[in-house]
Amino acid sequence: MLDLFFDDTHRALRDAASAFVAREIRPHVAEWERAGWFPESLSRAAGEAGLLGVGYPESLGGGGGDVFHRLIVTEALVRGGSGGVAAGLGSHAISLPLILDHGNDAQRARFVPPVLCGERVACLAVTEPGAGSDVAGITTRATRDGDHFVLHGTKCFITSGVRADLAVVAARTGAEGHGGLSLFIVERGTPGFTASAPMEKMGWRASDTATLYFDQCRVPAENLIGEQDGGFYLLMSNFVPERLMLAAMAVATAKLALEEAERYAVERAAFGRNIGRFQVIRHRLADMATREESARAFVAVVAERARRGEDVVSEVAMAKNHAVDACLWICDQAVQIFGGHGYMAEHLVERLYRDARLLPLGGGTSEIMREIIVRRRGYGG
Ligand SMILES: Cc1cc2nc3c(=O)[nH]c(=O)nc-3n(C[C@H](O)[C@H](O)[C@H](O)COP(=O)(O)OP(=O)(O)OC[C@H]3O[C@@H](n4cnc5c(N)ncnc54)[C@H](O)[C@@H]3O)c2cc1C
Repeated sequence: MLDLFFDDTHRALRDAASAFVAREIRPHVAEWERAGWFPESLSRAAGEAGLLGVGYPESLGGGGGDVFHRLIVTEALVRGGSGGVAAGLGSHAISLPLILDHGNDAQRARFVPPVLCGERVACLAVTEPGAGSDVAGITTRATRDGDHFVLHGTKCFITSGVRADLAVVAARTGAEGHGGLSLFIVERGTPGFTASAPMEKMGWRASDTATLYFDQCRVPAENLIGEQDGGFYLLMSNFVPERLMLAAMAVATAKLALEEAERYAVERAAFGRNIGRFQVIRHRLADMATREESARAFVAVVAERARRGEDVVSEVAMAKNHAVDACLWICDQAVQIFGGHGYMAEHLVERLYRDARLLPLGGGTSEIMREIIVRRRGYGG
C-alpha cells in the first residue's frame, strides 16, 4: 500500500506482517500450491500473531486499526507468493464483518473471537450454481419452522468452504428478487450441511474452494443476522471492503511480478548482453512500473476516502477494475520477459499469472463493476 497515508502503527504492522510471511509462508508456499491444499495450522499461527484480528475491535479479540492496517496485511500475505494462501487467510474478512456490523451482541460474542484467534474458520456463501453476479436470483430457501429456519439449496466456489467451521449463508426467506433474502450463520456439524472436496482450479490452488450443500438443514432462528428479508443490502455494503481488498491484492501481485521481471532482466543474457539492455525490455519495465504505481496510488486514495467515511461505492469499483487491469497486463509482461522459463512452474511469475486471473471475477466481475459505475454516475439515463 502507498505509505503516503501511513503513521508509525502502519509501518510497524507492515514489518511484523512481512516477518510473519517470510517465516511462516514463503518457505512452504510451493509445496502447498503443489498439494492444492491450505495448511490447517496456518490460520492458528496467523491468529496467534494477531494478523486475523487486524481492523477488528479489541473487545472481541481484535487488534483495532483502520482500512490501511487491513490492506497492509493483505499486501503482506500476497507477497508470500500465493494468492490462494492470502485468500484462505482472508475468507473471514468477507464474512465476519456481516456478523460484526449487523449481528446482535450474542452473535458477536459467540462467533467473532474464535475466528480472530484462528481457532475457527469462517467463510461467506453467496454464489450458487445458477446465481453469481445476479445475487437477487438466489434460490437457496430458508423456511421458518418453529424456532428454526430450514435451509435447502447449494452454494458454489466458496473460499475456505472445505475447512470452514461457520458459514454466513444468503438464503431466500421471502418473495423473488432482492427484497426476499436473509443471512444466516450455519455451523459445521449442523445436520444437513455438508461441504465438497476442494475444487481443482486454474489458480489460488492452495485455497480450499468448495461447494456447500444444505439439505433440509435446520438452523436456529437465533442465527439470523439482522432483519429477515434485509440480507441483500447487508451483502451489498459488505462488497465495498471486499473489493478494496481485491484491488490491494491486484496491486501487490503486480508489484511482485514487476520485481521478478526486474531481477530477471539483469540476470538473463541473450546475444551477448543482459536482456534488460534491449530497449524494448527496459521500456516494458518502465511501463510496468508506471502502471503499478498508478494503480497503487488510485487504490490508496480511494482507501483514504473510505477511511474518512465518504461513500466510495463507485470509486472502489473503479479502483478494482483499474488495479486488476494493470495487474493482468503486468503479469503477462513479466511472463514475456521470462520467455519460456516464465511458463514453467518453478518460476513465481507462472503462479502470479494464474492467480491474477481470479481478480476480475471474484467479489463481482469487471462487467458488474462497470454496471455499478454506470448506475452511480447515471450514464445512459
Ligand atoms: C476462486 C473463486 C473463489 C470464490 N469465492 C467465493 C466466496 O468465498 N463466496 C462466494 O459467495 N462466491 C465466491 N466466488 C464466486 C464469485 O463471486 C462469482 O464467480 C462471481 O461473482 C461471478 O459469478 P458467476 O461465476 O456466476 O458468473 P456469472 O454471473 O454467470 O457471469 C458470467 C459472465 O456474464 C457477465 N455478466 C453477468 N451479468 C452481467 C451484466 N448484468 N452485465 C454485463 N455482464 C454480465 C459476467 O461479468 C461474466 O463475464 C468465488 C469464485 C472463484 C472463481
